[in-house]
Amino acid sequence: MTQKTSTYENVTRQFDKAADLMGLDPEIRKILSKTTNEVRVNFPVKMDDGHIEILTGYRVQHNNALGPYKGGLRFHPAVDIDEVRALATWMTWKSAIVDIPFGGAKGGIQIDPANFSARELERITRRFTFALGCVIGPEYDIPAPDVNTNPQIMAWILDSYLAMMPPQERNRSLHVVTGKPVESGGSVGRDKATGQGIVFCIEQWAKDRGFDLKGATYAVQGFGNVGSWTARLLKPHGARLVAVEDVSGAYSNPEGLDPDDVCAYTRANRGRIAGYPHATPTDHETFMSTAADILIPAAMENQITAQTAPLLNVKLVVEGANGPTDPDGDAILAGRGIELLPDVLCNAGGVMVSYFEWLQNKRSESWDLEEVDTKLYKKMVNAYERVRDTVRAYNTDWRTAAYIVALNRLARVYKERGIFP
Ligand code: NAD
Repeated sequence: MTQKTSTYENVTRQFDKAADLMGLDPEIRKILSKTTNEVRVNFPVKMDDGHIEILTGYRVQHNNALGPYKGGLRFHPAVDIDEVRALATWMTWKSAIVDIPFGGAKGGIQIDPANFSARELERITRRFTFALGCVIGPEYDIPAPDVNTNPQIMAWILDSYLAMMPPQERNRSLHVVTGKPVESGGSVGRDKATGQGIVFCIEQWAKDRGFDLKGATYAVQGFGNVGSWTARLLKPHGARLVAVEDVSGAYSNPEGLDPDDVCAYTRANRGRIAGYPHATPTDHETFMSTAADILIPAAMENQITAQTAPLLNVKLVVEGANGPTDPDGDAILAGRGIELLPDVLCNAGGVMVSYFEWLQNKRSESWDLEEVDTKLYKKMVNAYERVRDTVRAYNTDWRTAAYIVALNRLARVYKERGIFP
């Protein structure tokens, strides 16, 4: 019988590797190896036919030494305390690596949104927000979109949260959630931000390696927000998308799939690639074995493992998703000389532009796309260079180096501030 992989166990193994290598202070290690708060809520929701369902949601707050807790909300059947704990912890490292004043959190509801009508999803979102109550807050813990959640869902969270506030507080609380529609206080550029940050990292890596992106080939797993934007933003570089996999199946075309066309198709097909006419259907194993320069996993955790890492036929893995490679997968890729840019660095564009949105709301400003993209570029390149320099200084892999950057920053803050009382 196969055992379910513990995603949090993966985080612990990654953390231990970095903490050992850098000689992290044992007291700081104790603090950072635990989450701060873990909230589980069971809440009733009235369905369209009038019956009541009791649903389960989570919010885990890992650490807020650098600023308010920050992290997405996921609606997915696999959401459980182990997964949310892992995702919350990665958020702490991510914000520290890219140097924004946030801590780490994550949450979600254990549902398959495909089983609910739009009206039911709205009631689920509003009741979840009500159940969380003051667990979230604009200066305390700020959710954002993640798998199967989107700007519409963020707008419902905002509206429900504001309804719970005294009227005088409402206009001061727009920043309780990020990734909102632009008209409701969102930032331009937030929808593409994660993909944009990934592409900035790929550009830097290509520059460092003298690698020409024009004519380079790549495969993408997951064609939602992160995967589709990454592919669309790689198109102007002249890179060729040769395989795509999503929850409904895998498709390949060595001549190239047009990211805009796949996007238009999936949009019209409930977000799924199944039945895409301009490519050949393949299976999961064939997808993982795709011969290409770059593989971009942008779907779920634990995709590159002891079983699948030997199949990969690429030079570089760029983690768009959180946690797509487990520590066994990491070791196999390293042994095979396949480089990997880790999630906590290269998918940080999303939380970065969420930070910009939060700032704009606090200051009653709205920046244009050029301002957002310029700031994002600068921060992502700085973070990339910090991690690259740490790779060299410690002669280690990119993930461990990224952890060292984060842990150093957090350790300094704990040393300076001390532990109350
Ligand atoms: P999304 O819901 O927009 O898209 C998810 C995609 O993954 C869909 O195409 C879905 O079909 C596919 N998928 C799901 N299960 C799959 C499976 N078993 N095999 C293959 N494909 C599968 O979600 P998203 O926002 O694009 O998030 C994707 C990943 O990126 C997640 O790990 C998320 O935590 C991470 N991430 C998202 C953001 C963001 O801004 N949205 C930021 C940082 C990291």
